Amino acid sequence: MMTLSILALLVAVLLTVNSGWNFIRRTGKKARRQALYALLAFIISVVAAAGHPGGGPGLPGGWQSQPRDKATVQAPAGTPLSRESQTNPSQPREEAGKLRVHFLDVGQGDAILVQLPGGKNILIDAGTNEAGPAVVQYLKQYAVVKLDYVIGTHPHEDHIGGLDQVIKIFPVGKVYLPRVTNNTASYRDLLLAIKNKGLKVTEARAGVSLPLGDGVQALFINPVKENYDDLNDWSAVLRLTYGQTSFLFTGDAGSAAEEGMLASRQPLRADVLKVAHHGSRTATGTAFLKAVAPAYAVISAGKGNDYGHPHAQTLQRLQQAGVKVYRTDRDGTITVVSDGREVTLP
Ligand SMILES: [Zn+2]
Repeated sequence: MMTLSILALLVAVLLTVNSGWNFIRRTGKKARRQALYALLAFIISVVAAAGHPGGGPGLPGGWQSQPRDKATVQAPAGTPLSRESQTNPSQPREEAGKLRVHFLDVGQGDAILVQLPGGKNILIDAGTNEAGPAVVQYLKQYAVVKLDYVIGTHPHEDHIGGLDQVIKIFPVGKVYLPRVTNNTASYRDLLLAIKNKGLKVTEARAGVSLPLGDGVQALFINPVKENYDDLNDWSAVLRLTYGQTSFLFTGDAGSAAEEGMLASRQPLRADVLKVAHHGSRTATGTAFLKAVAPAYAVISAGKGNDYGHPHAQTLQRLQQAGVKVYRTDRDGTITVVSDGREVTLP
């Protein structure tokens, strides 16, 4: 017992010397002297204590001193270890609490993946039929195992074309579409994929919100009206807020939709604006841009596309409003990260 307690005390001394040395290396002359005195006093007291049988005053016997000494020795050694294991789990702590929005490079079309801090995934559009396999690959790359919410903004092929392929492969929670149809094979394929999966369509329209949790709110602010002449204006527009940060996903909403949203007096402000209709001239009007007042804008367009997207006038309006513009045709996939206080772009 005596040998064990001396051994334990020696380990304690060694630890003290080690931490003392680290301390000494970093401090000034006076502090160094004080530390040395303290160390000397400690060593003397340890030697004196070791000279008394029973391990010291107040202890009834050697048997009880062993666990106490063990605990004294192990506690300081164990503390930094357990702290380290807490800060280095498989998913780093700093990654928790972050929302990620990936504007996927799908050529001419739209596909946006939103990954919530708690692990839920929202997919807004999936590019063309041709881009479908690439979208599936992107989702796998971003470790998506389930799409909690799938939104088809409007039934044009460059938005819903790849959705049927995605729905076939990934488990899906809910599907949101605006109440408008299109007589195309792409749209029929989408409806068939939804049906074959045993899913139902939930209507996307102004006032409908996604039940997300995680401190994230997402509300559709378009379509506002019962009817639009242009299919683009039917676009399901989603405004998503996380803490003090906000995003606006506009699909291909044109000027009629913008007028409707402005007239509805819903909050439009957003830090990041997904520019409507690939930067077309007939969207992102001055009044709408003023109401959204974004710091950043993302344009999803294909390199050298036939439509002349994005249009020079739209780029000019964005520039005049002091908005920093990102483009998938130049920057590839663009990932925006929000920690709830601010957004970070590449
Ligand atoms: Zn489009």
